[in-house]
Amino acid sequence: MAIRLDTPIIELYRFEVSRLSAAMAKKLAEAVAGVFAKTDPSAATVEDLLSYFPARYEDRSNFISIDKLEDGMEAAVEIYVRNSGGIQVGRNRDPRKPPLYLFEVTGGDAERRFKPVVVKWFVSGKAAKSILQYYSERFARGTRFVAYGLWEYDDRKGTFALKLAKPEELEILPGEAKDLFTPEPAADPTVERGYSDEDLDEDIASPEFATVHNARRVPIYRKLGPFQTKRLREIIHSVLQKLDPTSVPDNLPADLRERQDLVPRAQALSEIHFPPEDSLISDYEMFRSAAQRRLIFDEFFWLSFAMQVLRGERQKEPKGTVIEISDVMKERMKQILPFTLTGAQRRVIAEIFRDLTSDAPMNRLIQGDVGSGKTIVAFLALFAAMENGYQTALMAPTEILAEQHFRNAGKLFAGTGYRIVLLVGSTKAAEKRKLHTAIAEGEIDLVIGTHAIIQEAVTFAKLGLAVIDEQHRFGVLQRAQLKASGLNPDILVMTATPIPRSLAMTVYGDLDVSVIDELPPGRTPVKTVVVGEDKRQGVYHGIEREIKLGRQAYVVYPLIEESAKSDLKAATIMYEDLRTRIFPQYTVGLLHGRMKPAEKEAIMAEFVAGRLDILVSTTVIEVGVDVPNASLMVIEHAERFGLSQLHQLRGRVGRGAEQSFCVLLADYKRTTVAKQRLGIMEETSDGFKIAEKDLELRGQGEILGTRQSGIQNFRLGNIVRDLDILIAARTEAEHYLTEKRLSPETSQMVKEVRSDKKVRLGNVG
Ligand code: ADP
Ligand code: MG
Repeated sequence: MAIRLDTPIIELYRFEVSRLSAAMAKKLAEAVAGVFAKTDPSAATVEDLLSYFPARYEDRSNFISIDKLEDGMEAAVEIYVRNSGGIQVGRNRDPRKPPLYLFEVTGGDAERRFKPVVVKWFVSGKAAKSILQYYSERFARGTRFVAYGLWEYDDRKGTFALKLAKPEELEILPGEAKDLFTPEPAADPTVERGYSDEDLDEDIASPEFATVHNARRVPIYRKLGPFQTKRLREIIHSVLQKLDPTSVPDNLPADLRERQDLVPRAQALSEIHFPPEDSLISDYEMFRSAAQRRLIFDEFFWLSFAMQVLRGERQKEPKGTVIEISDVMKERMKQILPFTLTGAQRRVIAEIFRDLTSDAPMNRLIQGDVGSGKTIVAFLALFAAMENGYQTALMAPTEILAEQHFRNAGKLFAGTGYRIVLLVGSTKAAEKRKLHTAIAEGEIDLVIGTHAIIQEAVTFAKLGLAVIDEQHRFGVLQRAQLKASGLNPDILVMTATPIPRSLAMTVYGDLDVSVIDELPPGRTPVKTVVVGEDKRQGVYHGIEREIKLGRQAYVVYPLIEESAKSDLKAATIMYEDLRTRIFPQYTVGLLHGRMKPAEKEAIMAEFVAGRLDILVSTTVIEVGVDVPNASLMVIEHAERFGLSQLHQLRGRVGRGAEQSFCVLLADYKRTTVAKQRLGIMEETSDGFKIAEKDLELRGQGEILGTRQSGIQNFRLGNIVRDLDILIAARTEAEHYLTEKRLSPETSQMVKEVRSDKKVRLGNVG
């Protein structure tokens, strides 16, 4: 019986996979399920295991005999143990501290046993004695093993030595220990040599023996649950050996594979773990090996294909609302506008109006850097829908932001007679019920609230348009499931997450994208400086100076999920310190996510009204908050934030015409990367540039991470690094859905995409 691609990992112990017990198979399944966000470990399959790709590779193919070793050479050699044992190193002055040992294995090869090599590593800790004992047994005289690493020649001793951090990667070869170093007492002519020629023929004629960990290019994995790289390598190697190749169907059409020069999937899955002999490790490092290219192509192709299928379906489905934009309405619009729109705002509004008046439902994304003025664009779209007699909704990720929109909408639509309500988590139950009824009966024109509340709990009589603000907070692809009576409302989402336009189409799937790439006039760019802890006093002086000029300041603390409690404490302590000791003469407020909504609202209202000079806050203020009089932002522990997040935060200042400042207080011992990263904030205020840099330095996970942006996460592909593959895959997907639309192949592929086989469309639609 062979292993199949869909074999559950928990079943692997049945296949004699590298000593994997049932209990360990279960642990492996749990760990793999964790990586791929599967809740049920029994649903984790061999396919998932094989999708746990190596973090990097090592070229251990330089397998040589000991006499070929040179100083500074990286090589694998086969060694017979002559002696091994631990010696205590250094004097142990402090008896409370456990002693440090050096474990040394001395050995040689069968031919040159008098030119010994030494492999050594440190052992310490409370259990050192028993660990030493264990190693002594593992490396008993005569044991044959392979050691890989950087060999150094010790002039004094005349030996080659290999110093290891850990002995994990040493590979003890199977077979009885064979003592080559103790002369046998018999009067046999082979005595002097200590072994017979037959012995040599039998198993020393290597390196032809199959080694998993050496004499080849090997994968290095990140630790997976309790499994270290070596153990994973053994398991995956064994699984690949026993994998039934017919259970790995090629999910790309043959002509496509030929056109794009892609290797078969089964080959790719094997080679991505164990690169073939003639491959270049550098290709693997750059994700350009045949195996990686093939698998990245798979991911991009199926996503693009699915997106395009969805898009086609959406366009076929009429929306059922009729919106007209008349000249009279445009006139009314002009009258309520508080300022002249920028060119970019006008262009985007024209795009939205075209969608609103078309038969196909709108699914449009507005991308615009912080402060580019997305809100007014949304309000005008809402106004157009309301003028046509439809209900509308505006959803925000936080109550603070919903309240801000509610205030602004109140001002903007004051003379229009439209009924606007606020519906958030903290709205009283009785009030909520009343609102629900009024909305269901069509008495409310615009509902502003938090995302979840509106999306899950409200039934509209005639919803025509829903706007979702700061969508990167929700997951772009998780579209509003708004309950509407028979209507298919237009959807507009807004985000400040800057994604280069060339990528947006694939990343945002079936959304049309509009970009506001111009800031309103009269903005002075925010001055940004990165300073160390030693400049803290100066920073306080800066705060004081701004307050004396009549302005306000933010002091922001990171709140990282994992250490939320201690972070919160730090923020609270700092607040107390600022309030009582440093700025007793000024008013200081505290805002954080654990506060009751009513408290938050009260604090925010105080700050908006200018009654608070300083607002100490966790990152709850990150999204959308607009207080033009705030001119200084101090960000504590700036090194703990992603650049895009810092950019978002910084966008809270510089909203008026006055010069604004952003001070990034970074931890003293900044790493080079952290320094480089924060330096970018000083250099530019262009969100797109910052996003690109962040991408370069931290990888897409950081900026486009699923949690923050909701963007499809790829197992292997990276939309920036692999842009060429992305474009090729997208073009191919288009090809099948246009020229080859009627082919049996295409209909089969559409079927599979629908039946959720290749891409989890649940995440996409
Ligand atoms: P964001 O795109 O980050 O959501 P907002 O919509 O909150 O930005 O706008 C930022 C600020 O700029 C607000 O105070 C808003 O009133 C102002 N604003 C927007 N558009 C213009 C414009 N065309 N002229 C002047 N001020 C504008
Ligand atoms: Mg906004």
